[in-house]
Amino acid sequence: MQKINYGRMLDEKLEELEKNDEKPSLLLHACCAPCSSHTLLFLYGKFDITVYFCNPNIAPESEYEYRKSELKRLIAELNLDVKIINEDYDPSPFYELAAGLENLPERGERCRRCIEYRLRKTGILAAESGFDYFTTTLTISPHKDHEFINSCGGKLADELGVKYLFSDFKKHDGYKHSIELSRTYNLYRQNYCGCIYSRRLSENG
Ligand code: SF4
Repeated sequence: MQKINYGRMLDEKLEELEKNDEKPSLLLHACCAPCSSHTLLFLYGKFDITVYFCNPNIAPESEYEYRKSELKRLIAELNLDVKIINEDYDPSPFYELAAGLENLPERGERCRRCIEYRLRKTGILAAESGFDYFTTTLTISPHKDHEFINSCGGKLADELGVKYLFSDFKKHDGYKHSIELSRTYNLYRQNYCGCIYSRRLSENG
């Protein structure tokens, strides 16, 4: 089956919005400051952006709070007119969805459920709050399966009745740009994805 070019889909969507002189509202799920850096600058001015920090997968709590505070600092230092919605720390939904899947490698079923959970929360909030679109910064990561993320986002959009912004934020050297921005703003770049299982994997090499 032919692969969908999600990067091109985003480019075409941006062209369409510009042509129609539209600036829709967007609820952007953000996993951390480094992944948000390029993504925010790439979308800024084209959408009225609200960032949503919803990541019950992150452990321990101190790590969650640190990633959240780095994201807030980045937005302030970039001087962006962007609102932030934060979820309080509650990892229980993550441990429920990960039960029995603790030893799977990254990109397996645990990760698919983890991503689906965060996208669903974002989609539900977007629908309830009347946002035009929702999406996630996660497609910037070369470690993540952007095809799964986009297919999941598209299904949730149909189910929840709110548009999903398809993306591959790696395009246009997005990942490289995020590394440069991380250096410029001295952002904390974690060495594990987020959950306790990915941390163990990174510690054990
Ligand atoms: S490795 Fe990352 S994506 Fe996978 S379950 Fe853990 S936090 Fe979620």
